[in-house]
Amino acid sequence: MHHVFAWFSRATSKSTNIFGFLATIALLLGLSACSVAPVSESAAVAGLPQNQLPIRFLLTFDDGPVATKENSPTQSILDDLADNPLQPGIKAIFFLQTRASDAGGSALGREFMQREYSAGHVLGLHSATAGHDNHRYLSPEVFTHSLDDGIADIRAVTGSAPSLVRPPFWSYDQRTLAGYRQHGLHMLLTDLSANDGKVWGVNFSLRRRSSMLHQLAEVREQIALGALPAVDGSIPVVVTFHDINRYTARHMREYLQILADSARELNMPTAAKPFYDDPAALERAAIARSVGDASQKVHLPGLWNWIWN
Ligand SMILES: [Zn+2]
Repeated sequence: MHHVFAWFSRATSKSTNIFGFLATIALLLGLSACSVAPVSESAAVAGLPQNQLPIRFLLTFDDGPVATKENSPTQSILDDLADNPLQPGIKAIFFLQTRASDAGGSALGREFMQREYSAGHVLGLHSATAGHDNHRYLSPEVFTHSLDDGIADIRAVTGSAPSLVRPPFWSYDQRTLAGYRQHGLHMLLTDLSANDGKVWGVNFSLRRRSSMLHQLAEVREQIALGALPAVDGSIPVVVTFHDINRYTARHMREYLQILADSARELNMPTAAKPFYDDPAALERAAIARSVGDASQKVHLPGLWNWIWN
């Protein structure tokens, strides 16, 4: 299995037969897994106290920025985070591809990273090679170089080194984790995912409301088991989108509403401000949720647990 995905992760986003095949499987499994089953409530959830700590949504965006002058989905998302009916001034973490030519690796891309930073968002590292490379398959030299490069790229924008990394394809091991640690980077995974990545060739979510609700119900179980830490009086819930996805950008405001509605439907209290709006608090929460040990059991979005294990 792993060698297939070694190839897979090196492949570009061009469609191939296997790509389409995998996308179909992902779509079918994704739909069957999260669209029909009603949300169940375990004994642990039933026993949650009424005065349970509120949750707070920690929004993250992968793969950008989209360096296009016209109709950039990244810009559209920045506009909606700043101004929307639910909570103005939301701050998010953007996990960047700092050297991809269609992302951060151009003058325009750097300008977009500057816009994100100037708007008060947190910049994290996703990749700093020319492509969306799996860090585990890079040679030790190239991997180390790419971390140095990515940190320098972000420092050039913000004036300081990033503290957060999200591994492409959610793929990591003890070696890459050690590399992150040596570079002062904390690895953040996710609780909820819009399943809007380009990876499977699936770039839209037919049943996004039901999918988010079911993923949040899983989070409720984790909270009931005491598995999620509280930070500054609330429990951060990490949500992942892809700002390179135009569908996501067009539906950003709706996604915010879906998150708020899902929490209400599941009787999960949210913080007075349900989304982070301060970069320092956002970064603190993200670091508290970071994973530092490859043996730690994690829940990856979609089929990724199945792929990597
Ligand atoms: Zn990615």
